[in-house]
Amino acid sequence: ILSAKNIKKSYDGTQVLNGISIEINKGEVLAIIGPSGSGKSTFLRCVTQLETVDSGEITICGETLVKNDAAGKAVYSDRASCVKIGLHIGLVFQNFNLFPHFSVLQNITEAPIRVLNKSKEEAEITALALLKKMDLSDKANAYPCQLSGGQQQRVSIARALAMNPDILFFDEPTSALDPELTGEILKVIRSLASERMTMAVVTHEMKFARDVADYVVFMDNGTIIEQGRPEQIFENTQNERTKAFLSRFN
Ligand code: ATP
Ligand code: MG
Repeated sequence: ILSAKNIKKSYDGTQVLNGISIEINKGEVLAIIGPSGSGKSTFLRCVTQLETVDSGEITICGETLVKNDAAGKAVYSDRASCVKIGLHIGLVFQNFNLFPHFSVLQNITEAPIRVLNKSKEEAEITALALLKKMDLSDKANAYPCQLSGGQQQRVSIARALAMNPDILFFDEPTSALDPELTGEILKVIRSLASERMTMAVVTHEMKFARDVADYVVFMDNGTIIEQGRPEQIFENTQNERTKAFLSRFN
Protein backbone atom coordinates (compact mmCIF):
# COMPACT_ATOMS: atom_id res chain seq x y z
CA ILE A 1 0.00 0.00 0.00
CA LEU A 2 3.06 2.26 0.51
CA SER A 3 6.47 1.86 -0.99
CA ALA A 4 9.37 4.21 -0.35
CA LYS A 5 12.62 3.48 -2.17
CA ASN A 6 16.05 4.89 -1.51
CA ILE A 7 14.83 8.14 0.04
CA LYS A 8 17.53 10.75 0.54
CA LYS A 9 17.15 14.08 2.26
CA SER A 10 19.65 16.69 3.43
CA TYR A 11 19.28 19.83 5.49
CA ASP A 12 21.94 22.44 4.70
CA GLY A 13 24.37 19.84 3.36
CA THR A 14 23.87 17.37 6.22
CA GLN A 15 22.35 14.13 5.03
CA VAL A 16 19.49 13.18 7.37
CA LEU A 17 18.05 10.30 5.31
CA ASN A 18 20.69 8.17 3.60
CA GLY A 19 18.64 6.00 1.28
CA ILE A 20 15.67 4.73 3.27
CA SER A 21 13.51 1.97 1.74
CA ILE A 22 10.33 0.93 3.52
CA GLU A 23 7.28 -1.04 2.41
CA ILE A 24 3.99 -0.97 4.29
CA ASN A 25 1.44 -3.68 3.51
CA LYS A 26 -2.29 -3.24 3.78
CA GLY A 27 -3.65 -4.11 7.22
CA GLU A 28 -0.22 -4.18 8.82
CA VAL A 29 1.31 -2.14 11.62
CA LEU A 30 4.86 -0.94 11.09
CA ALA A 31 6.85 0.33 14.07
CA ILE A 32 9.79 2.66 13.44
CA ILE A 33 12.28 2.78 16.28
CA GLY A 34 15.66 4.42 16.72
CA PRO A 35 17.57 7.02 18.71
CA SER A 36 16.84 10.73 18.75
CA GLY A 37 17.98 12.46 15.57
CA SER A 38 18.02 9.25 13.50
CA GLY A 39 15.59 10.70 10.95
CA LYS A 40 12.33 8.99 11.97
CA SER A 41 10.21 12.16 11.95
CA THR A 42 11.90 13.40 8.80
CA PHE A 43 10.95 10.17 7.04
CA LEU A 44 7.32 10.53 8.19
CA ARG A 45 7.32 14.17 7.10
CA CYS A 46 8.57 13.13 3.65
CA VAL A 47 5.86 10.53 3.05
CA THR A 48 3.14 12.85 4.40
CA GLN A 49 4.33 15.72 2.15
CA LEU A 50 5.32 18.04 4.97
CA GLU A 51 8.84 17.88 3.51
CA THR A 52 10.19 17.14 0.06
CA VAL A 53 12.81 14.48 -0.65
CA ASP A 54 16.03 15.14 -2.60
CA SER A 55 15.86 11.79 -4.36
CA GLY A 56 14.02 8.49 -4.17
CA GLU A 57 10.62 7.08 -5.05
CA ILE A 58 7.38 7.08 -3.09
CA THR A 59 4.26 5.23 -4.25
CA ILE A 60 1.08 5.28 -2.18
CA CYS A 61 -2.00 3.18 -3.03
CA GLY A 62 -0.59 2.58 -6.51
CA GLU A 63 -0.05 6.27 -7.23
CA THR A 64 3.41 7.75 -7.68
CA LEU A 65 4.09 10.78 -5.51
CA VAL A 66 7.71 11.22 -6.50
CA LYS A 67 10.32 9.42 -8.57
CA ASN A 68 13.80 10.11 -9.88
CA ASP A 69 14.66 11.69 -13.20
CA ALA A 70 17.57 10.42 -15.35
CA ALA A 71 20.00 12.44 -13.22
CA GLY A 72 18.68 10.82 -10.01
CA LYS A 73 16.92 13.93 -8.78
CA ALA A 74 13.42 13.80 -7.28
CA VAL A 75 10.54 14.81 -9.54
CA TYR A 76 7.13 15.22 -7.93
CA SER A 77 3.82 14.48 -9.61
CA ASP A 78 1.64 17.44 -10.50
CA ARG A 79 -0.05 19.42 -7.77
CA ALA A 80 -3.48 17.79 -8.18
CA SER A 81 -2.00 14.28 -7.94
CA CYS A 82 -0.02 15.19 -4.82
CA VAL A 83 -3.18 16.50 -3.16
CA LYS A 84 -5.07 13.34 -4.13
CA ILE A 85 -2.27 11.11 -2.81
CA GLY A 86 -2.22 13.13 0.42
CA LEU A 87 -5.83 12.14 1.03
CA HIS A 88 -4.77 8.50 1.43
CA ILE A 89 -2.76 9.44 4.51
CA GLY A 90 -3.51 10.60 8.03
CA LEU A 91 -0.95 11.88 10.52
CA VAL A 92 -1.13 12.11 14.30
CA PHE A 93 1.50 14.30 15.91
CA GLN A 94 3.30 14.11 19.21
CA ASN A 95 1.79 17.39 20.41
CA PHE A 96 -1.79 16.81 19.19
CA ASN A 97 -1.81 19.99 17.04
CA LEU A 98 -5.51 20.64 17.61
CA PHE A 99 -6.97 24.02 16.64
CA PRO A 100 -7.26 25.73 20.06
CA HIS A 101 -10.12 28.06 19.08
CA PHE A 102 -12.24 25.22 17.65
CA SER A 103 -14.40 22.90 19.73
CA VAL A 104 -13.65 19.17 19.67
CA LEU A 105 -16.44 18.64 17.15
CA GLN A 106 -15.23 21.49 14.92
CA ASN A 107 -11.68 20.12 15.04
CA ILE A 108 -12.94 16.82 13.64
CA THR A 109 -15.42 18.17 11.06
CA GLU A 110 -13.33 20.99 9.64
CA ALA A 111 -11.30 19.01 7.09
CA PRO A 112 -14.13 16.68 5.95
CA ILE A 113 -16.28 19.76 5.26
CA ARG A 114 -13.59 21.91 3.67
CA VAL A 115 -11.51 19.27 1.87
CA LEU A 116 -13.98 16.46 1.14
CA ASN A 117 -16.97 18.79 0.62
CA LYS A 118 -19.08 16.86 3.11
CA SER A 119 -22.20 18.52 4.49
CA LYS A 120 -21.99 19.76 8.08
CA GLU A 121 -24.62 17.20 9.14
CA GLU A 122 -22.82 14.27 7.53
CA ALA A 123 -19.45 15.36 8.95
CA GLU A 124 -20.97 15.70 12.44
CA ILE A 125 -22.55 12.25 12.31
CA THR A 126 -19.16 10.74 11.45
CA ALA A 127 -17.41 12.85 14.08
CA LEU A 128 -19.82 11.85 16.84
CA ALA A 129 -19.43 8.17 15.94
CA LEU A 130 -15.64 8.54 16.13
CA LEU A 131 -15.88 10.37 19.46
CA LYS A 132 -17.97 7.52 20.79
CA LYS A 133 -15.34 5.06 19.63
CA MET A 134 -12.69 7.18 21.40
CA ASP A 135 -14.84 7.19 24.53
CA LEU A 136 -15.24 10.98 24.32
CA SER A 137 -18.93 11.39 23.54
CA ASP A 138 -19.36 13.90 26.35
CA LYS A 139 -16.56 16.18 25.07
CA ALA A 140 -17.93 17.14 21.64
CA ASN A 141 -18.48 20.78 22.66
CA ALA A 142 -15.41 21.15 24.86
CA TYR A 143 -12.34 23.09 23.75
CA PRO A 144 -8.90 21.46 23.55
CA CYS A 145 -7.60 23.39 26.59
CA GLN A 146 -10.34 21.79 28.70
CA LEU A 147 -9.08 18.27 27.96
CA SER A 148 -6.28 16.13 29.35
CA GLY A 149 -3.37 15.32 27.07
CA GLY A 150 -4.67 11.81 26.53
CA GLN A 151 -8.12 13.14 25.61
CA GLN A 152 -6.60 15.68 23.23
CA GLN A 153 -4.59 12.94 21.56
CA ARG A 154 -7.73 10.82 21.16
CA VAL A 155 -9.44 13.81 19.51
CA SER A 156 -6.53 14.14 17.12
CA ILE A 157 -6.80 10.43 16.27
CA ALA A 158 -10.55 10.92 15.64
CA ARG A 159 -9.72 13.94 13.48
CA ALA A 160 -7.32 11.87 11.36
CA LEU A 161 -9.82 8.98 11.06
CA ALA A 162 -12.58 11.37 9.97
CA MET A 163 -10.73 11.76 6.66
CA ASN A 164 -11.01 8.00 6.19
CA PRO A 165 -7.32 7.48 5.37
CA ASP A 166 -5.86 4.28 3.95
CA ILE A 167 -2.78 4.64 6.15
CA LEU A 168 -2.42 6.36 9.50
CA PHE A 169 0.98 7.61 10.66
CA PHE A 170 1.80 8.37 14.27
CA ASP A 171 4.90 10.32 15.32
CA GLU A 172 5.59 9.41 18.95
CA PRO A 173 1.91 9.71 19.88
CA THR A 174 2.54 9.17 23.58
CA SER A 175 5.80 10.98 24.25
CA ALA A 176 4.08 14.18 25.44
CA LEU A 177 1.91 12.20 27.87
CA ASP A 178 2.26 11.03 31.45
CA PRO A 179 2.68 7.26 31.79
CA GLU A 180 -0.94 6.75 32.92
CA LEU A 181 -2.25 8.58 29.83
CA THR A 182 0.14 6.74 27.52
CA GLY A 183 -1.76 3.51 28.15
CA GLU A 184 -5.07 4.90 26.93
CA ILE A 185 -3.55 6.00 23.60
CA LEU A 186 -1.75 2.70 23.09
CA LYS A 187 -5.07 0.98 23.75
CA VAL A 188 -6.70 3.00 20.96
CA ILE A 189 -3.90 2.12 18.54
CA ARG A 190 -4.16 -1.55 19.53
CA SER A 191 -7.87 -1.53 18.85
CA LEU A 192 -7.33 0.11 15.43
CA ALA A 193 -4.74 -2.59 14.71
CA SER A 194 -7.27 -5.28 15.58
CA GLU A 195 -9.59 -3.69 12.98
CA ARG A 196 -6.73 -4.05 10.47
CA MET A 197 -6.13 -0.32 10.07
CA THR A 198 -2.83 0.13 8.21
CA MET A 199 -0.50 2.13 10.45
CA ALA A 200 3.09 3.26 10.82
CA VAL A 201 4.05 4.27 14.35
CA VAL A 202 7.26 6.00 15.41
CA THR A 203 7.60 5.02 19.04
CA HIS A 204 9.88 4.68 22.02
CA GLU A 205 7.45 2.19 23.61
CA MET A 206 9.37 -1.02 22.93
CA LYS A 207 6.90 -3.33 24.62
CA PHE A 208 4.11 -1.85 22.51
CA ALA A 209 6.17 -2.20 19.30
CA ARG A 210 6.93 -5.81 20.17
CA ASP A 211 3.28 -6.65 20.88
CA VAL A 212 1.45 -4.72 18.19
CA ALA A 213 3.77 -4.30 15.20
CA ASP A 214 3.79 -6.79 12.35
CA TYR A 215 7.07 -5.36 11.21
CA VAL A 216 9.80 -3.26 12.85
CA VAL A 217 12.32 -0.90 11.29
CA PHE A 218 15.33 0.20 13.34
CA MET A 219 16.86 3.46 12.09
CA ASP A 220 20.08 5.10 13.18
CA ASN A 221 21.80 8.07 11.62
CA GLY A 222 19.52 8.27 8.61
CA THR A 223 20.00 4.60 7.70
CA ILE A 224 17.95 1.47 8.28
CA ILE A 225 20.22 -0.72 10.39
CA GLU A 226 17.85 -3.67 10.59
CA GLN A 227 14.25 -4.51 9.77
CA GLY A 228 12.14 -7.56 10.35
CA ARG A 229 9.44 -9.22 12.40
CA PRO A 230 9.34 -8.09 16.04
CA GLU A 231 10.69 -11.48 17.23
CA GLN A 232 13.70 -11.00 14.96
CA ILE A 233 14.45 -7.47 16.18
CA PHE A 234 13.59 -7.82 19.87
CA GLU A 235 14.65 -11.40 20.59
CA ASN A 236 17.04 -12.67 17.93
CA THR A 237 18.99 -9.69 16.69
CA GLN A 238 22.65 -10.32 15.93
CA ASN A 239 23.24 -6.68 15.11
CA GLU A 240 25.44 -4.86 17.64
CA ARG A 241 23.80 -1.47 17.05
CA THR A 242 20.31 -2.89 17.48
CA LYS A 243 21.45 -4.65 20.67
CA ALA A 244 23.03 -1.47 22.04
CA PHE A 245 19.90 0.58 21.31
CA LEU A 246 17.49 -1.95 22.84
CA SER A 247 19.64 -2.40 25.95
CA ARG A 248 18.74 1.17 26.94
CA PHE A 249 15.15 0.09 27.48
CA ASN A 250 15.85 -2.82 29.83
P1 ATP B 1 13.51 12.20 17.78
O1 ATP B 1 13.46 10.79 18.29
O2 ATP B 1 14.29 13.10 18.69
O3 ATP B 1 12.18 12.76 17.42
P2 ATP B 1 14.03 11.77 14.93
O4 ATP B 1 14.57 10.39 14.68
O5 ATP B 1 12.60 12.01 14.68
O6 ATP B 1 14.42 12.16 16.44
P3 ATP B 1 14.47 13.89 13.06
O7 ATP B 1 13.59 14.87 13.72
O8 ATP B 1 13.99 13.26 11.80
O9 ATP B 1 14.92 12.76 14.07
O10 ATP B 1 15.84 14.63 12.77
C1 ATP B 1 16.91 14.04 12.05
C2 ATP B 1 18.02 15.05 11.90
O11 ATP B 1 17.59 16.09 11.04
C3 ATP B 1 18.42 15.73 13.20
O12 ATP B 1 19.83 15.85 13.19
C4 ATP B 1 17.77 17.08 13.12
O13 ATP B 1 18.51 18.04 13.80
C5 ATP B 1 17.73 17.35 11.64
N1 ATP B 1 16.58 18.18 11.23
C6 ATP B 1 15.28 17.83 11.35
N2 ATP B 1 14.46 18.79 10.86
C7 ATP B 1 15.28 19.79 10.43
C8 ATP B 1 15.05 21.07 9.82
N3 ATP B 1 13.80 21.49 9.55
N4 ATP B 1 16.13 21.81 9.52
C9 ATP B 1 17.38 21.37 9.76
N5 ATP B 1 17.66 20.18 10.34
C10 ATP B 1 16.63 19.40 10.66
MG1 MG C 1 11.03 12.70 15.85
